[in-house]
Amino acid sequence: MFTPNEIQNINTLLSSPKNITVVSHRNPDGDAIGSSLALVVILKKMGHNAMYVSPNSIPDYLCWLTENKDIIIAEEQQEKATNAFKNSDIIFTLDFNALHRTGEITQAILENISSTFIMIDHHQMPDAYAKYTFSDVNYGSTCEMIYDFITEIDQKENIDKEIATCIYTGIVTDSGSFKFPKTTANTHRCVAYLIEQGIENTNIHSTLFDNGNYDRLQLLGRALQNMVLLPEYNASYITLSQEELNLFKYKKGDTEGIVNYGLNIKGIEKTAIFIENAEDKMIKISFRSKGDVDVNTFSRNHFEGGGHKNAAGGKSFLSLKDTVNKFITILAQENSTNEI
Ligand code: 5GP
Ligand code: MN
Repeated sequence: MFTPNEIQNINTLLSSPKNITVVSHRNPDGDAIGSSLALVVILKKMGHNAMYVSPNSIPDYLCWLTENKDIIIAEEQQEKATNAFKNSDIIFTLDFNALHRTGEITQAILENISSTFIMIDHHQMPDAYAKYTFSDVNYGSTCEMIYDFITEIDQKENIDKEIATCIYTGIVTDSGSFKFPKTTANTHRCVAYLIEQGIENTNIHSTLFDNGNYDRLQLLGRALQNMVLLPEYNASYITLSQEELNLFKYKKGDTEGIVNYGLNIKGIEKTAIFIENAEDKMIKISFRSKGDVDVNTFSRNHFEGGGHKNAAGGKSFLSLKDTVNKFITILAQENSTNEI
């Protein structure tokens, strides 16, 4: 949590109506969108003029969360986003901890803004761009941090069904439906309160996860068939080429969660999915691991990425085949170093 002194300063800041923008990372997920919208609605209830700016578009499977909400997509509405940031007294940055995570366009705007930045985030190794930083890797989601922050500034009573739904969505998506290791008693206490506010938790799950269509399931089938095991390194990986994505009419969000299947196999502790993106001329990579195996460091060191110890992202500008070869070569090197 922020220090008591910082909370006092933030409370003072929020004691009179302010212009506030809340920004999340590029390619926002349930936690980024859920935490941002929850905070915006609370701030509005407190009498502020608050707005959510997402660097790029909301994936289809989360559009129901933003329905009837006034949000700005920075890469599509650059002038509007620039003005919102420029006119802001306060900018909350949620679910990321380095400005480059907002993408080139939003980063360039944010770097030239003199508003008070407040960061709330649960990723490792935060940058020092914010005046007030609540950064804690022990939290499973930014949404749970937002719940604690709302409580800390005495606004818990203002959590209604709408806000509770946003917070719940982020907790469910970032915790893999409460199964990842950072799911704590605090998480469940928070969720208990959200359910008491009337959220339709079963409906939220089915809206999020039972939204498959034939093409998406076929894409999952192809991904699983492409899975390669590397038992000598307790690892596995999946590839999806642009051609395969096209074949199954890929839409943003369709590959969400596929990477986790790589850890489904007994003995596998580290996995990756390599997804070709012809438009951006790069390979988007997701890493997942179990226990002490640290994919955050692995991705930072080798694939220009980062994230959490057990879930990180990265990228490569080599071909799909060369990227996979690089991955295997690094595993082999690490393995031989460990054996010495
Ligand atoms: P995913 O594999 O689902 O894209 O990302 C897993 C986690 O790593 C998420 O928490 C995400 O925010 C973080 N992440 C993904 N890509 C990057 C990246 O390029 N840099 C950093 N620092 N974190 C990332
Ligand atoms: Mn998150």
